[in-house]
Amino acid sequence: MIIKGKIFSGDEFIENLKIVGGKIVGLNVSEESDLDFGERTVLPAFIDAHAHFTDMGFRSFWLNAFNLKRKKDFLDLIARAAQVTPKGDWILIAGFDETRWTDDPTYPTRKELDEVAPDHLVYARRICGHMAVINSRVIRFFNIQKGRNIDIERGILREEAMKQIESYLKSNIEKLAQGILKAQEMCLKEGVIAISEFLSPRTLMALRLLSEERLMVNLCLYFYYEYAKMLIDLGFWKGWKFNGVILNGIKIFLDGSIGARTAAFYDAYKDDPRNKGQLLIDESNLLEIIKLAERAKMQLAIHAIGDRAIDVALNALKNISKGNPLRHRIEHFEAATDDQIKTAAKLNIILSMQPNFLQWQIPGGMYERRLGKERAKMLNRFRTIINSGAIAAFGSDSMPFGPMYGVYWAVNHPNENEKINLIDAVRCYTYNSAYALFLEKRLGKIARGFEAKIIVLDRDIFSEDFSKLKESKVIAFISGEKIINL
Ligand SMILES: [Zn+2]
Repeated sequence: MIIKGKIFSGDEFIENLKIVGGKIVGLNVSEESDLDFGERTVLPAFIDAHAHFTDMGFRSFWLNAFNLKRKKDFLDLIARAAQVTPKGDWILIAGFDETRWTDDPTYPTRKELDEVAPDHLVYARRICGHMAVINSRVIRFFNIQKGRNIDIERGILREEAMKQIESYLKSNIEKLAQGILKAQEMCLKEGVIAISEFLSPRTLMALRLLSEERLMVNLCLYFYYEYAKMLIDLGFWKGWKFNGVILNGIKIFLDGSIGARTAAFYDAYKDDPRNKGQLLIDESNLLEIIKLAERAKMQLAIHAIGDRAIDVALNALKNISKGNPLRHRIEHFEAATDDQIKTAAKLNIILSMQPNFLQWQIPGGMYERRLGKERAKMLNRFRTIINSGAIAAFGSDSMPFGPMYGVYWAVNHPNENEKINLIDAVRCYTYNSAYALFLEKRLGKIARGFEAKIIVLDRDIFSEDFSKLKESKVIAFISGEKIINL
């Protein structure tokens, strides 16, 4: 099969490409093409280096509050659900972002949830996943007591305090398996061929349920740290795989999110002057984890958003093997300083970043409210990072999921100095993320010998106005000789 179109291979623009037996065997061949996409852009399929695969499918069965404009709409959504849901059942809401609400941009409270749904178990998870609000019924159901990151009065749970409920909700393995299939559907629709998964062993069991049905996407697993030692003891190794699922390493949280005011900074939050965020584990603990990962030859994915957390991560990472052969990564790396970027480049750390987070970095947006204008402007420094020679791999963190949305933000960065060009943005979301996931020898480029995993967009993104990139859609997914029209 020979495909023609406006093809960007990852290295250069090419005339056509030839596929035989699921592999790319030729570029710019002189034979007649079977499929001509004209002026439409053809790219290597995207790779999302940081997403929550199963969770994004699983929570698509919940109510979605992401696009709501007012707190009133959010509470109405729950009130309507309460009318049609049997009393005593759960009402689950994902994706609320109070910073978008025009009537009252504050976290919802237990009392507000009680008013609209007193007889149900209500759990509303914030878009960032680092915070949730619950009603009184949930507090009674789990007998939740005062503690770190628990605000009983307001019904607010942060970070580790959410785990009990999250793991209860995910105890249904069949439902999780449905989430996996749904997430795969979402991947194909957005043109994603490989994606990360941060998981607990339960998700592994759900994947096992599907083991007859080989996944089409490449799923790269990172176990949450608390399970890492057990899994290594059980004899799991990096590269362990079944049916398209590959074990890469270990995921660890150093701090929280800016939205939940738990990302760890040196300076206090502008809208919470006594709070500098929190380190979720201390440095000596992190050093232990690094030793464990290095011994087991596992890749580490270290979540660090605030400048203080990034310092802790980089300091500890000075102890890894030279050149970073295990490809340890820092996730998000949002508030990095010049020095931190230089150190990361020197240590060859992979910087796994989310251009779609720029949706909160616009003037007057959430980051400004939390941190003030000056600090907000200096987040997500893509240009400086690429210039430093460090590897930036892009992902969505499923907030929302969809690489073209992230590409749009990367080239429309609100800070002019940190804008990157479209070619770099596409590379960060294809080849660089393939590298971050150890897939760069077979995916992330249109090159001879690579797997034929190719997407077609509905337009020529390279000649169009960048402000319109957000609207572009994937219209076809070519997988080997199979063409999936979307
Ligand atoms: Zn994440």
